[in-house]
Amino acid sequence: MTVDAPPRPSITELSPEELSAWLRDREEPGYRTRQIRRWLARGSAFEAMADLPAELRAGLAAAFRSSSLQEVRRSQADDELTTKVLYQLDGGYTVEAVVMRYPSRSTLCISSQVGCPIGCPFCATGQGPFGRNLKANEIVDQAADAARGLEAEGRRLSHVVFMGMGEPLANYAAVVDAVRRIADPDGLGISPRRITVSTAGLVPRIGRLAEEDLPVTLAISLHAARDELRDVLVPINSRYPLRELLAAADDFARSSGRRVSYEWVLLAGVNDTERDARELSALLRGRLAHVNLIPFNPVPDTPFREPDRQSIRLFAGQLRARGLNVTVRDTRGRESEAACGQLRARALAEGVVSR
Ligand code: SF4
Repeated sequence: MTVDAPPRPSITELSPEELSAWLRDREEPGYRTRQIRRWLARGSAFEAMADLPAELRAGLAAAFRSSSLQEVRRSQADDELTTKVLYQLDGGYTVEAVVMRYPSRSTLCISSQVGCPIGCPFCATGQGPFGRNLKANEIVDQAADAARGLEAEGRRLSHVVFMGMGEPLANYAAVVDAVRRIADPDGLGISPRRITVSTAGLVPRIGRLAEEDLPVTLAISLHAARDELRDVLVPINSRYPLRELLAAADDFARSSGRRVSYEWVLLAGVNDTERDARELSALLRGRLAHVNLIPFNPVPDTPFREPDRQSIRLFAGQLRARGLNVTVRDTRGRESEAACGQLRARALAEGVVSR
C-alpha cells in the first residue's frame, strides 16, 4: 500500500519568528524575513521573489507552498469588473472571494469561514452545512492573491470587506489577526479604516472588537428593525435582540469614532415596505449610522425575491426623507453566481469540489 506524502506546509502559516528561525538555520541574513514577507503579502510565488538568491528560492519552494489556497474556479461579470474566485483549502474545503473594480478603488470581499453557522434563510452560504473556521493566513492569502492579480492590471487593492462566507466575529481571533496582518505596513499596508468587518450581531464580540484599538469599519447585517422579523431573517437575533445589538454598535461607534454601517438586504414584500422604512428610521434616529441597501441577489431554493427598481427607489427615499444616510449598493456580480456562496454551490453540485 502506498501512502500519499502530506502536502508541503504553506509558508504563510509561519509566524515572522518561525520564518526567521528557518532562515537562520540556513545561515541567511536577518533582513530576508522582511523581504520574503513583503513578497508573500503581494501573493508572489517563490520564483518571482527577484531579490532573493536562486538557491534560497529553490530551498523555499522545496520546503513550502507559497499560499494556503489553490484556485479551483473563477468567474467574471460586469465586463470583467467583478471577479469571483473559488479556492480550495487544506482538507478539501472551499471558500469564495470576490474582487470588485471601481474607478477609484478596488475592493475585495473576503471569506472567514467555510459555510456559516448563522443560517440566514435568504443566504446561499447559510443553506449548506458549516465546515470550519479559516485560519488567519487563509484569510490573508485571499487578500494576497487579489493584490497580486490587481497589481498585474496596474491596480492596487485598496479596500477589504469581511462580507464573504461566514460570520467574521464567530472566528474572532483569526479575523482580528488577519486584519492586523492586512494592515501591517510590511504586509499589504491597507489602513484599518479601509477594512470593514461585518457581523450578524454577536454582541459580546462587538464589545471585544471595540477594545482592540483597531479602527475598522463595523457593518451590522441588520435586515429587519423589529425583533419578530429579525428572529426569522437573522436567527442569532433571538439570542441577541435588537436593543442589545444597537447598544453594542453605539459603544463601538463611540470608542472608534467611526460611523457604523447597517446592511439591509432588500427582500420584496418582506422588509421593503413603508412600515419597515418607518421602523428602521425610528431605530437609527440620532445614531452615528449609515444604511447600505442591498437589492437581494436571487438564491435558488429560497422563497425570497428581489424588489423591482421602483420599490428600491421608494424605500431609499422614505429613509432619506426621515433623515438617514443611505446608499443603494450596486448589484455587482449578477452574472457570476452572484450571491455569496453560489459559485461554491454550483461547483459542489457539479462535483468539481466535495465540500
Ligand atoms: S448572511 Fe452572512 S451571517 Fe447570514 S448565513 Fe449568510 S454569511 Fe452567514
